[in-house]
Amino acid sequence: MLFRKLKLAGFKSFVEPAELRIEPGLTGVVGPNGCGKSNLLEAIRWVMGENSPKSLRSGGMEDVIFAGTAQRPPRSFAEVVLDAVGADGEELQVTRRIERGAGSAYRVNGRDVRAKDVALVFADAATGAHSPALVSQGKIAAVIAAKPAERRMMLEEAAGIAGLHVRRRDAEGK
Ligand code: ATP
Ligand code: MG
Repeated sequence: MLFRKLKLAGFKSFVEPAELRIEPGLTGVVGPNGCGKSNLLEAIRWVMGENSPKSLRSGGMEDVIFAGTAQRPPRSFAEVVLDAVGADGEELQVTRRIERGAGSAYRVNGRDVRAKDVALVFADAATGAHSPALVSQGKIAAVIAAKPAERRMMLEEAAGIAGLHVRRRDAEGK
């Protein structure tokens, strides 16, 4: 799966709608401290279903919504749209939106879906919020220090079999 475009609105420091083209190959993000580089990576994780406060450097779910500054009022929602192309050449658009007091909602190609469906779409394409393809600050050190079980998970994700685990948990009703 190739990511093509990322659109953000009201997500963390990206208060105004922003659009980024993602070219094939390795992408690096550069810029001064605090300009939002890590927020961009977190937006990609978030739209793929990430909920872990640690991964998102947040306390609660709504902390991803622009919180306001001395000059700007806070926003009531955050939305991230990821355009991708699957291995089969099929276009895919995944949207996640969170509204204050209303939680998260997902759409795939304009259709309302469950968080679980989004997780499966990405797991089957050997990617996802925990994909080793997303290298965040401090990640290299974390890979070196990982326990064998954690490293196995990274390999399973890279091999594209993580979706099987999601389906097994689903089948077991967990
Ligand atoms: P560094 O080079 O230090 O790693 P960075 O480019 O990775 O910096 P980020 O950590 O992505 O920067 O962005 C930090 C900025 O995002 C801070 O100014 C912080 O206040 C802002 N920010 C984070 N969450 C929100 C939010 N919910 N609302 C408004 N601003 C936010
Ligand atoms: Mg950073």
